[in-house]
Amino acid sequence: MIRVRFAPSPTGYLHVGGARTALFNWLYARHNDGTFILRIEDTDRERSTDASIDEILNSMRWLGLDWDEYHRQTDRTEDHLKAAQDLMDRGLAYESEGAWWFRVPTEGSTIVQDELLGDVEYANDHLKDFVIRRSDGSFIYHFVVVVDDADMGVTHVIRGDDHLNNTPKHILLFEALERPVPKFVHLPMILGEDRTRLSKRHGDTATLEYRDRGFLPEAMVNFLARLGWSHGDDEVFSRDDLVQLFSLEEINKSGAVFEDTKLHWLNQQHMKRADLDRLLDLIKPLVLDLGRVSDEMWGQAGNDRLKRGVHLLRDRCKTLRDLAVAMELLFPVPLNPVDDILVQSEQVPLLLAVAEALEETTPVDPGELENVIREVLACQGAKLKDVALVSRLAVTGRRAGPGLFDVFALIGAELVSKRLRVTAEGVAE
Ligand code: GLU
Repeated sequence: MIRVRFAPSPTGYLHVGGARTALFNWLYARHNDGTFILRIEDTDRERSTDASIDEILNSMRWLGLDWDEYHRQTDRTEDHLKAAQDLMDRGLAYESEGAWWFRVPTEGSTIVQDELLGDVEYANDHLKDFVIRRSDGSFIYHFVVVVDDADMGVTHVIRGDDHLNNTPKHILLFEALERPVPKFVHLPMILGEDRTRLSKRHGDTATLEYRDRGFLPEAMVNFLARLGWSHGDDEVFSRDDLVQLFSLEEINKSGAVFEDTKLHWLNQQHMKRADLDRLLDLIKPLVLDLGRVSDEMWGQAGNDRLKRGVHLLRDRCKTLRDLAVAMELLFPVPLNPVDDILVQSEQVPLLLAVAEALEETTPVDPGELENVIREVLACQGAKLKDVALVSRLAVTGRRAGPGLFDVFALIGAELVSKRLRVTAEGVAE
């Protein structure tokens, strides 16, 4: 039975690297019907905060990484003391200046048999005796991590390779405590695009910042999984795909580069696949936050029309925030153009004629709109291509987008005509 754990120290937000470690443990547990343990390593009381614990839990919940067991290291002080006392009693630890020290053998070597990196050998005389309990009675990470992993029956320790050099100490402690040594998997570091270790310098490193920037949790999970794990040339994986396919054998040995453009692309792919009602729920607060559309206006737009909007507009959006901005088009608020609108004087009467025709006939579906517009242009001796771009700009504020008549039908003849007039009259003045 596989038992793995994610063991964050609650001294800040959940770093995306930590989230990746959590995900790999979770995937390994879920793939193997094992147990995923969340253990808050809060022995460092000075640096640990409840706010950090909340943030870590919220980050895990957002990503959908549910845990089967929850522990706080500080609840286990008695077990730590018992284990340390046992080492003292058996002469494997000793006291000096009030602290308790673990006695490291002076000869031989300790081999970390890493499932990913292979065997890494450490000469014991380089390790030196180390403190397991400070003189104030508090315990050192190296000791409690081992006691907890042993007591919790952890079978696989999957963590960042920044812990590789700690592992010989851990192995010696497992052996001294006469407990089985778990298997170790040290994951390659996450790198920034300049191939140095990912840090704030490269951009956001807090997991929840990605939620706030408008990424879907399943896109983030997909992206994090691909940071160090691959399956053929596939890029887009649902959560279920990942659970089904995940294996330790397909973890890469070299550092994984955090590419923002790839995350955006994956988010777009997952937005295309997401349930429309869910997307609507997610973007509503974002649209209201933009401050131009009220709750009442949102309600009046009606669920069907809003859903049609999401369906039509999402393909070109990379984040939920992009989609929220695009959705403003549906509402009678002043246009927020992203591209310049340059109208030539001979286009002005054409735009006005189209506006008028739309007011008179108020066509509803894309086909009807197209007929009305083509007809009125023909009467003016013009063609659709003479005004297609400028009218798209006038109505949507963008050069490109979904099919012109699809987007006009979505926005509605009345608002389309109003926006055409605003643009045409702006030029005529
Ligand atoms: N609390 C340690 C950390 O956050 C855990 C390391 C481990 O997984 O053993 O780095």
